[in-house]
Amino acid sequence: MSKPKIAVIGTGGTISSISTHSLEVLDYPETGRKMEPAEAIERVPEAAQFAELLPLPFRAVGSTKIAPADWLELAQLITRTAREQADISGFVILHGTATLEETAYFLSLVLKTDKPVVLVGAQRPASALSSDVGMNLVSAVRTAIDPQAGGKGVLIVLNDEIHSARDASKTSTYRLQTFKSRDFGLLGHVDGDGVYFYRAPLRRHTLESAFDIARITEFPRVDIVYSYAGSDGCAVDAFVAAGTRGLVSAGLPPGLTTPLERESFEKAAQAGVLIVQSSRAGSGRVARRSYLKDKAMIGADNLTPQKARILLALALTQTSNPDEVQTLFDTH
Ligand code: GLU
Repeated sequence: MSKPKIAVIGTGGTISSISTHSLEVLDYPETGRKMEPAEAIERVPEAAQFAELLPLPFRAVGSTKIAPADWLELAQLITRTAREQADISGFVILHGTATLEETAYFLSLVLKTDKPVVLVGAQRPASALSSDVGMNLVSAVRTAIDPQAGGKGVLIVLNDEIHSARDASKTSTYRLQTFKSRDFGLLGHVDGDGVYFYRAPLRRHTLESAFDIARITEFPRVDIVYSYAGSDGCAVDAFVAAGTRGLVSAGLPPGLTTPLERESFEKAAQAGVLIVQSSRAGSGRVARRSYLKDKAMIGADNLTPQKARILLALALTQTSNPDEVQTLFDTH
C-alpha cells in the first residue's frame, strides 16, 4: 500500500538549526545555521516510515524574522500546493517557536482547506544532545496523516502534545513543555501506539472562517500596547502618529487600563482607530463590559494580545464597524 504524501514546508527555527556542538543550546540563533527542509527530513529518517515526505523550501530563518507578509505568502503557498497537488494529504510546517503560535492562528483563520496543517517546532537544535527535533517531527507527521486531524483547524505539535492554533501559546523560554492551551487544554496526544484526539475546537476556523486568503492582499497595521502600573498614553499616541489602524490593549487583568492610557485610547477611538481590550494575564476572557460598548471598543474574548492583533487586522480587511468586529471576536 502506498504511503500518504505530506508536504513539509521549511521556514527555519530551532527545529531546522544546527549549532556548533552538542551542548550548545543558547547561542545558535547567532552562531548556528538553518537547514532547508530536505536536510531536516534526512536527519530524521524515521519520519519517512509513516509518509512520503515532499520538502518545500519557504524560508530558513529564526521565527523572529517571520512577519505578516510572510504569513500571506505561506498561506498562498499552501493553497496553491493543495490545489495543484491533490494527492497531498496534509502539511507539516517547520517553524521557530518564538512566533509559531501567531503564524498558526493566522493560517487557521485564512486557509480554506480541511486537510491537516500541523506546525511543529523544537526547543533544542537538531545538533543538541537530547534534542526534541526528531520525535517532534515524527509526531507532527503522524498527526498530519491521522484521519481525525482533518477538519480540526491548524494544529501545533510539540512534546507529544497536539494543540489548537487558537488556544496554544509558548509559555516558557527553554523548557520542552513550553506550549500550553491555558484555558481549555490540549486536543490530544501522540503516543507510541497512535495519535489520540479527545476534543475538537468549536470556534470558526479554515473552511468555516469569515476570512479567505484569496481575498486578503494586505495586513493592516495593528499594534499592541502593554499596560503596567503607572503606564501613560505615550505608546498609544506614538502608534496613532505612526498610522496604526487598530490597537490591542494588553491591559491589567481583567482588562483595564491606567487613567492616562484610558484618555489616549479614547482619543484614538474618536480618531477612528479600533481598540480591542485584551489582558496581559495570558488566560481568561475579557468581556465587552458597558464601558467598552459605550466607547465603541471591543472585548478580546480569551485571545492573547498577539492573537487578538491578528484577528483585528483581518477584521479590518472587511469592516471597521465595532459591533461587527465584536461578532468576529465572539465567533473565531
Ligand atoms: N526558537 C527560535 C525561533 O523562533 C530561535 C531560533 C533562531 O532565532 O534562530 O526560531
